[in-house]
Amino acid sequence: MRTEEATDIAKAAGATEPAEECRLAGLGVSPGIAIGPAYLVEGGDLPVHEIHIPESEIEAERARFGEAVEVSLKQLRKLKAKTSGLPPSAAEEIGYLLDAHVAMLSNSRLVRGAGERIGRQRLNAERAVELEIDEIARSFAAMRDPYLSARGEDVRVVGTRLIRNLIKKPYAAYSGVPQGSVIVADELTPADTALMDPQRIAGFAAQFGGADSHTAIVARAIGIPAVLAVPHLFEHARAGAIVIVDGGEGTVVIDPTAETVAHYESRRDTLTRERRYLNRLRRLPAVTRDGVEITLEANIELPIELDQATANGAMGLGLVRSEFLYMNREDLPGEEEQYAVFSALVRGMEGKPVTVRTFDLGGDKLAHSLADHYIQSDNPALGLRAIRLSLQDRRLLDPQLAAMLRAAAEGPLRIMLPMITHAGEIRRVREAMEQVARRLRRRGVALPKTLPPLGAMIEVPGAALAADALAAESDFFSIGTNDLIQYTLAIDRSDEQVAHLYNPLHPAILRLIQFTVEAALRRGMPVSVCGEMAGEPRYTALLLGLGLRNLSMAPRSIPRVKQRVRSLDIVAATRRARAIMDQSDTGRIAALVDDFNAVALPG
Ligand code: PEP
Ligand code: MG
Repeated sequence: MRTEEATDIAKAAGATEPAEECRLAGLGVSPGIAIGPAYLVEGGDLPVHEIHIPESEIEAERARFGEAVEVSLKQLRKLKAKTSGLPPSAAEEIGYLLDAHVAMLSNSRLVRGAGERIGRQRLNAERAVELEIDEIARSFAAMRDPYLSARGEDVRVVGTRLIRNLIKKPYAAYSGVPQGSVIVADELTPADTALMDPQRIAGFAAQFGGADSHTAIVARAIGIPAVLAVPHLFEHARAGAIVIVDGGEGTVVIDPTAETVAHYESRRDTLTRERRYLNRLRRLPAVTRDGVEITLEANIELPIELDQATANGAMGLGLVRSEFLYMNREDLPGEEEQYAVFSALVRGMEGKPVTVRTFDLGGDKLAHSLADHYIQSDNPALGLRAIRLSLQDRRLLDPQLAAMLRAAAEGPLRIMLPMITHAGEIRRVREAMEQVARRLRRRGVALPKTLPPLGAMIEVPGAALAADALAAESDFFSIGTNDLIQYTLAIDRSDEQVAHLYNPLHPAILRLIQFTVEAALRRGMPVSVCGEMAGEPRYTALLLGLGLRNLSMAPRSIPRVKQRVRSLDIVAATRRARAIMDQSDTGRIAALVDDFNAVALPG
């Protein structure tokens, strides 16, 4: 919507003269920019009074409560029927959620607890529900894991639905919202969000909600710009006032000046153009001008990023950093939990390969639950990290291997080992994998006929130099340039004081990459790069010129790297890589890389 249009709508909605611009910061949970008149969604606490009822009315009160449960269930089923029109990922997400809400209304702690309170405390049903929600919410809030505490929110959402039905105060529908409005609410339920029509509603901002909440997930899935957790939102927002929501930056501007509107309009236009262009690219193959196909895969940390990987056209998952399952919690994730995550990834990728890495914990990635397993050393990057820790305690390695083997029965899964330094480490993991497989088969667990490929990450200089010996024990290699650079150049990757020395174009790094690629190709073994270098279009021609045909990167980097792949000629890139490998001066190497990119890039 243009400024004038937005202002006209604001006037029509009865807005008074614009007040001073007010900028509020929140959590940007769904990227994009929305500009439009505010549509305030009535919120605040529901008017729940505490009424003590006589013994004789307990049964009638319980019956009234039972009816509200029935009405709520009916509403949820109706909502579920309506979700069939949503994009598949949103329909799936909201479908799970509504099923969970239905389960929370079926003989759950919430329903049983509230029913008991009515009798025990002789309370009216709405107050009984309110007290029960508070108690459940407290126990969820005590959980440190943000995902689990967000599930506590779900109980509150279901409880609120029950209370609304008890006090006969139904939810507002969005069908009457003027075209192009920005919804401003104190809180939005995921179900409400799923029913927002992106053609009608430009975006939304809410005072409450977290980045892991289902509301956030659904907003991303349907592609509505959204900012949550905006303090004091309601103190500043008025119905009809122009509001800007920047869901990438996490900013809400109320009553923006004409200059601010013009700034965000131009950013929105740039984003729209970029999105259109990258969307077109998503459907195109990653093939060079001279017809060589390149595999571009995604690195992910959390299962929730799977959507992003597929949305950006990933041809597989080249690196699943399983250590993130161990972080921000007090206990260790068991075999079942890991199996559920890995198999969901395998199913979600629909036949495309999924490379799961055994955990890379230690160094700068710590897990409370492993505190007993090692003594914090003065030099953790050189200490008991990654595969060293896994091999030190089979109680850590075996459940991961079991979960991976079971998930491999459902689709192509590869197992990758971080920080490999010695061939013996790969041999020991292979033996462990075979033992775990025998144990699982004895238990009657379905496993693939041939065990999954076992690959080594090449991220320690010694591993690159011994690539031939490691190749003899491996089924594939993946080069972790982040650590390879750290260990080769002796630069702590997280220390900003030496960041300027962290240079992927140092001749030592290029030689180690070349050495590794050649060792793999001599054996006809797959080799990829999964460090940050793979996601940087500046290095694409050089990496392909060195013989790589598989690159794995953050999902959002895929379209730009694909664009680079499609613009270059592999024969020319190979020739240029050869010229680069003859150089020993970093400045000269950089010049040869940039000069080739400038010539080969269109425009
Ligand atoms: C790497 O080191 O390049 C890599 C991909 O692993 P991580 O960044 O997880 O250490
Ligand atoms: Mg690494």
